[in-house]
Amino acid sequence: MKSINIVKPLMPSCEEYMDEIRELFDSGIITNIGEKHKKLEKELSKYLKVKNISILSSGHLSLSSAIKMFDLKGEVITTPYTFISTTHAIVENGLTPVFCDIKDDFTIDESKIEELITDKTCAIVPVHVYGFPCDVEKIEKIAKKHDLKVIYDAAHCFGVNLNNKSILEYGDASIISMHATKVFNTIEGGAVISKSKEVKERLDRFKNFGNDQSANPTDIGINAKLDEFRAAMGLCNLKHVDEEIKTRKEIVEHYIKYLSDIKEIKLPKYKDNITYNYIYFPIITEYRDEIYEGLKNENIYCKKYYYPITSEVKCYNKLYKRKTPNALSISKKVLVLPLHSDIKLSDVKRICTLIKNVIDQKKKEGSKNEKII
Ligand SMILES: *Cc1c(COP(=O)(O)O)cnc(C)c1O
Repeated sequence: MKSINIVKPLMPSCEEYMDEIRELFDSGIITNIGEKHKKLEKELSKYLKVKNISILSSGHLSLSSAIKMFDLKGEVITTPYTFISTTHAIVENGLTPVFCDIKDDFTIDESKIEELITDKTCAIVPVHVYGFPCDVEKIEKIAKKHDLKVIYDAAHCFGVNLNNKSILEYGDASIISMHATKVFNTIEGGAVISKSKEVKERLDRFKNFGNDQSANPTDIGINAKLDEFRAAMGLCNLKHVDEEIKTRKEIVEHYIKYLSDIKEIKLPKYKDNITYNYIYFPIITEYRDEIYEGLKNENIYCKKYYYPITSEVKCYNKLYKRKTPNALSISKKVLVLPLHSDIKLSDVKRICTLIKNVIDQKKKEGSKNEKII
């Protein structure tokens, strides 16, 4: 039986990519904000329905650069239930992360934000985990009331809409990741979507050593430019991403169909007013580790994602206050199942049967043990 991986990058055919990059061999312009870069930025702006978008060489640099644009100092309220990049980006900017607990839908618990605000608080960095939107309205209200910036880690939110509006339009800025493992990729890459045009313009200079046309920098800068080969990959993938999302949706619907009557498993809830991209399919179960091993024995690879949470990793667990019981508890029970367009519906059925068998087996063993005792 062939192995099933957790993710598989979206890629065009070899010929399609060759056609897209051919002209680069004539022009010799392979980076420094070339034609492909400009075209991709424009097309993404249209596809995502966002105004001020700036593409960068990774999602992480997008987040850390976006944070930098607001000249923040002090404490940032954020979530530990995320990829380590979120916390690194805050700390790397000289800021102190203050971890807020999450709700059962994996996103930051907005009802717990205000109690964490001090006179040092300068911003909120929430995460739309697995592409499930945070309560953006309530977060906006809190931010306004306390004069805080909001920068969303929307790494998972390519194409996610709330009431037909891009989720990326909320907050002072949002970032997406265009890494190979995400729904849409430029191999490595990311983008910042900012509320104000000034922030976009400053970012465009920042990612290019602070340079504008005059090559006489007014600002400090770094090098976070997306090169032409990767922009070309993005232009190709953009033609296939709708189909990718459609296939993922079908796979998720089948997971739900086969798993919904297993009472030991909690499935994510999907709402009618949200357009999802089906980037990940997380389940919550006490039998997480057993299912993980059981599937691994069949060459099916899942991910304990997010485990550990970022406040618990070696580089942070002695530095910052940690009191997020729900995030901690969910991280010990969460399992992300394989999800990409190469997975057949018959694979989904097989995976779900295996999951059911593991739980039945464990329950049987459990009740036997009780009898022995
Ligand atoms: C992938 C990811 C990032 C970082 O993006 P890269 O493109 O890999 O640098 C940041 N935050 C979250 C939540 C992610 O999943």
